[in-house]
This record gives sequence, structure tokens and C-alpha cells, in this order.
Amino acid sequence: MIPYYDLKAVKFGGSSLSCAEQIIKSAGIVKSERSRRFVVPSAPGKRFDGDDKVTDLLIKSFRTAQSGGDISEVFGRICDRFNEIVAGLGISLDLSKELSEIKKNIAGGATLDYAASRGEYLNGLVLSSYLGFNFVDPKELIIFDDNGVFDANETQVRLSAKLLTLENAVVPGFYGSTVNGEIKVFSRGGSDITGAIVARAVGADIYENWTDVSGFLMCDPRIVQDPRPIKTITYRELRELSYMGATVLHEDAVFPVKLAGIPINIRNTNIPTDPGTMIVPTAKDFTSRDIITGIAGKKHLAVIRIEKDRMNQEIGFGAKVLQVFCERGLSFEHLPSGIDTMCVVIAESEIDGKERDVLTAITKAVAPDSIELEKGLSLIAVVGRGMINAPGTASRIFSAIAKENVNIRMIDQGSSELNIIIGVDQEEFETTIKAIYKEFCA
Ligand code: ADP
Ligand code: ASP
Ligand code: MG
Repeated sequence: MIPYYDLKAVKFGGSSLSCAEQIIKSAGIVKSERSRRFVVPSAPGKRFDGDDKVTDLLIKSFRTAQSGGDISEVFGRICDRFNEIVAGLGISLDLSKELSEIKKNIAGGATLDYAASRGEYLNGLVLSSYLGFNFVDPKELIIFDDNGVFDANETQVRLSAKLLTLENAVVPGFYGSTVNGEIKVFSRGGSDITGAIVARAVGADIYENWTDVSGFLMCDPRIVQDPRPIKTITYRELRELSYMGATVLHEDAVFPVKLAGIPINIRNTNIPTDPGTMIVPTAKDFTSRDIITGIAGKKHLAVIRIEKDRMNQEIGFGAKVLQVFCERGLSFEHLPSGIDTMCVVIAESEIDGKERDVLTAITKAVAPDSIELEKGLSLIAVVGRGMINAPGTASRIFSAIAKENVNIRMIDQGSSELNIIIGVDQEEFETTIKAIYKEFCA
């Protein structure tokens, strides 16, 4: 029986494994601690701006084959990527059989999921050979049910039974299979999910997610230059930020480790000495600097404003409004409401072309005094567990925004007091985020 102290599951993203040089760095990180025994690789990502991710080349091969074209050119680029990596690592791995079989399968009508998954499969073979670790194919271990939904319980049983017999393993990210062995992939960026599943299966003390930034930043680096990294963030806060558009970690990667209470540490492969961000079940202490944990937002939203005197006394009013959306299969984002007003915030892409039908149906259902639809809204979520203990946070946010002459069009405070959501014209989106960052984080 192997003692499981200080056990780490580690996932490396596409940029951390994009070429031989990056793989050498990542392998160095694995080898620098004995506890890093279970490794989840992504497919090779972009090496420079404008480069292709191997996953995208595989998807392109699939589409070319589907439309009856010859995949030799695009598949040749995939072969070149892997041959260069193997040569650069100086290992004696021969991938020619694997590569020609994959090419034959894709050309012969294999599924999109099979094609998309092969980048992780091949990179897994490379990394296990370079590290001298066992290779464990997640096929028939990471399980999807007949409806294509990930089966967490079956996976936990199968995967832990396999991994707990091993001293170490490389488990390719992004895919698993149905019980019958048909390959299924998670949505894009899904190797993050595999990392979390493996961490849970081996009962890791920590799930390290190695990427190309030094952790989760307080806001999008494309809006604020060099935002501060977040030191500690709770699962709940992370979920709020990810939902609102901050996507360092796949949204669904949180669930498997949250279940097992395993913290996630986001780290930078290129600067391994940076401590990165710790994502934890609860954070007991934070300094006064951390009233706000992070800021994220979404553009291209529409708001439907419904007014009716004494709507709050009308039993079933809200249900009748939402029924209109439900019947049309439309999913909405937020539902801020006042005493005599109710707003439904929905993505423009969701309601485009259906505006008239939806407004007519709501009018018929609840006979409002007025109803209007406005587009061009953006929502900004200011998230922080520190807000609960910091009275006056909302007024600080509003006055910081007012100083920039931005008009607030909507306010919604989550019942958890974990976030305040502000609606502004999308032209004011960047200005608003910068103003809040400057007030609380700079
Ligand atoms: P990997 O290939 O390692 O999985 P991703 O590209 O999926 O990495 O995620 C890391 C990227 O997320 C960063 O390079 C950065 O551009 C982007 N990003 C977006 N929002 C944030 C944020 N709030 N903090 C950090 N990175 C962010
Ligand atoms: N290679 C897959 C993608 O490009 C999965 C991942 O990298 O996490 O989406
Ligand atoms: Mg990613």
C-alpha cells in the first residue's frame, strides 16, 4: 500500500506543452517534487500569436474529411508538430504507427469527438515517455452516460480503482468514453475538468493547474494593464467570476474537487516561483485590501423592463412572465426586480429576431402598465467575500463610477452579499471596470 501523503494532481495547459522546450519546463516542475505523481496534459497549444492549436488542426482534419476532401496537408501539420516535439525531447518514442492509424480513422469517418481527443492522447504518450510515468488512457475510465452526460460516480469508481494501484500516471485530458468505449470529449478547455476528476480519484491534497499566467487576475488583463493576481478565492467567488466571463479555468472544473474539498492552485509554468492563486472551500482570513476579490463582466445583453402597479400582490405574476421564456426555450441571465417592476436580462444573441413575439406574449400573460426592451447593456459583477464585513462598499462603487460620468442603468445585489451586479451601456463597460479597479484594487 502506497502512503498518500502530500499527493498532488497536476494539469498542464496547451501553452505549457506547446513544444519540446515547454514540455521540458513542465516535466521539470513535475520532477521537482515527488508528490506530483498524477499528471494531466492538454494537447499542444499555440507557440506564438497566430499559431494553431493541435486540437483545432484535428477538428479541421475532421471537417475536411467530412466534406470529402483530402486531409493529408492539414494532418501533415499535426505529424510535424509531434515529430518536432519527439526530436526536441530526444526520446526514442515512435509515433508513426499511431499517427497513421489516427489519420486513417479520421479520413475513414471517425467521429468529431474521436478526432478532437487525439491531441491529448498523443501528448499523453509523449509526456509519459519523457517522464518515465505510466500511461493511463481515460477511455472506459472517465465515463459519459448514454445521453453524453458525464457520470461522476461511475468515473470515480473506475478511475480510482485504476490509479490507486499505480505509483504515478499520465492521464490525457479532455476526453473519456461511453461505457461501450465510444470516445466523448468535454467542451473546449475541458482538460481542466479531467485534472479535477483525477485529483478527486486519487484523493489528492491539492490540484495544481499550470498555465501561462501567475494565477487568476483581479480583472481581465485586456482591460486593465497588469491587474493584481488574486491570492485566495473561494469556489463560490470563482464561480461568480467565471460565469460572468473570467475564463482561466473551465467553469465545470470546480465541481469534482469541491465535492472532495480539494483546493486548486493556479500556477504559471513560465514563472514557477510565483505562488499563483489558491481556490479554496472557505477563506477565513483576508486583509482589508481584499474587500473585492475580482471584477468580471459581459456585454451584448438586452433588458426587458416590465412595470405594473401592485405587481407584488398579484400571485403568479413572475411565474407567468418566466413561462413565456420557458415555452420558447430561452434562457435568461438575471432577474432584478423592484416593488412594481421586474426586469429580465437576456443575451442579445438569445432574443434576436424574437423580440416582438416575446413582448406580445408577456403583454398577453400579465397585462403590464408598460413594457420595453433595450439593447446594448453590459453587466459588471463586483465579487468579494470581503464585502459582507465592509459597510459602504456599494456607495464606494457607485461614486467611483459617477466620477467617470457613467450612468448606472441597473443594480442587482445577490442575496449572498457576495456580489453586486451593475448594468451600464456597453460603451461604458471598460471605463466602469477601470474605475472600480482603481477604487478598490490598485
Ligand atoms: P491553458 O491553455 O493553460 O488552459 P487558458 O488559455 O485556457 O490556458 O487560460 C489562461 C488565459 O486566460 C490567460 O492567458 C489569460 O489571457 C486569460 N484570462 C482571462 N481572464 C483572466 C483573468 N481574470 N485572470 C487571468 N487570466 C485571464
Ligand atoms: N485541447 C482542448 C482544447 O483546445 C482541451 C484543453 O486544452 O483543455 O480545448
Ligand atoms: Mg484552458
